Amino acid sequence: MRGWFVICGSCGRKVEHSHSEPPCEVLKGWLTVSYWKGLESVEHYSYCSLSCLQEWVDSHVPKIPEVFLRSFGEEDDRV
Ligand SMILES: [Zn+2]
Repeated sequence: MRGWFVICGSCGRKVEHSHSEPPCEVLKGWLTVSYWKGLESVEHYSYCSLSCLQEWVDSHVPKIPEVFLRSFGEEDDRV
């Protein structure tokens, strides 16, 4: 009868999940990342939205090459 909490690793938003609810319903729209760090070492992170996941990624990636960002913009213009 115990529930568990899923906490967004970026903004700290929290959802409670009880045994009676299917995870797919409670965590709709959330993203879960498995970070495989080595033998028997894996960390799981949850994010409530793509932008929260991106924030986390950005904070772990020193910098995104500008060329990469620009190529997205150019594609949008063409469409
Ligand atoms: Zn969040």
